[in-house]
Amino acid sequence: MNTQTSNSQVSSTSAKLAGKTAFVTGGGRGIGAAIVRRLADDGAAVAFTYRGSADQAKALADEIKAAGGRALALQADAADPAAVVRALAQTTDAFGPLDILVNNAGVLALGSIETLTLEEFDRTLDLNVRAVFIAAQAALPRMNDGGRIINIGSVNADRMPFPGGAAYAMSKSALQGLVRGMARDLGPRRITVNNVQPGPTNTDMNPETGEFAQMLHGLMALQRHAQPEEIAGMVAYLAGPDAGFVTGANLTIDGGFAA
Ligand code: NDP
Repeated sequence: MNTQTSNSQVSSTSAKLAGKTAFVTGGGRGIGAAIVRRLADDGAAVAFTYRGSADQAKALADEIKAAGGRALALQADAADPAAVVRALAQTTDAFGPLDILVNNAGVLALGSIETLTLEEFDRTLDLNVRAVFIAAQAALPRMNDGGRIINIGSVNADRMPFPGGAAYAMSKSALQGLVRGMARDLGPRRITVNNVQPGPTNTDMNPETGEFAQMLHGLMALQRHAQPEEIAGMVAYLAGPDAGFVTGANLTIDGGFAA
């Protein structure tokens, strides 16, 4: 894709991912949308799922296509194995075998261990952990050797410095173990598996203004939220040719939240 014609806020100097096919879960808005834009900017054909944000997802696919890229917006609940398999089949039918899987879809349910409901606990594990297993298992038969699996974890896997985040932090810590084991399983196929662990990032999940945001800034070396495009840059690195030797890693990008 010619970056000069791209609408994206992020520009790249070369099409590092030309000829590659990517699949991003929860790509209609937030960090996922920035990842979709960036991978498309870097030359990949990008399919992405949404659950509820149909209008935003379609607008994003149209934006990429208008700029000369290849994109496909697909409705699929990341927690539903049949829907994920269907979406992956549509992706490879349209774009060919997969090279890059980004597990981005996630949920944040904050609440004290005294009040968090079992439903919220289960939903957190369903989406933040089980859905990663579902997508990886569905994607692997359709993925080229030498592929990339990238999960969006959280710095809260390593540091949970305020109350109410027990279930969320647990889910992102669980991803660390999953990534290490998957990296071992898939090494023989030269498929790398890594987590990107953002700190506070400006999305609907965690807006950069307000009292909660200010509290977070007080915990950080750089006293601001990341923009989603900054997280997408690290994902693009892991998806690209420079990162072929990085696997089983948890890469934190957090403005010094864990420093
Ligand atoms: P948002 O709440 O802004 O967006 C959530 C995204 O996930 C949407 O695209 C949404 O799609 C999708 N999604 C939610 N449930 C499902 C589902 N069941 N099936 C498919 N897609 C689903 O979150 P962010 O963009 O902020 O977060 C993205 C990831 O980054 C998450 O894994 C989150 O834990 C992680 N993260 C975020 C941080 C932050 O500060 N924002 C910090 C650290 C990690 P739809 O709208 O279509 O439902």
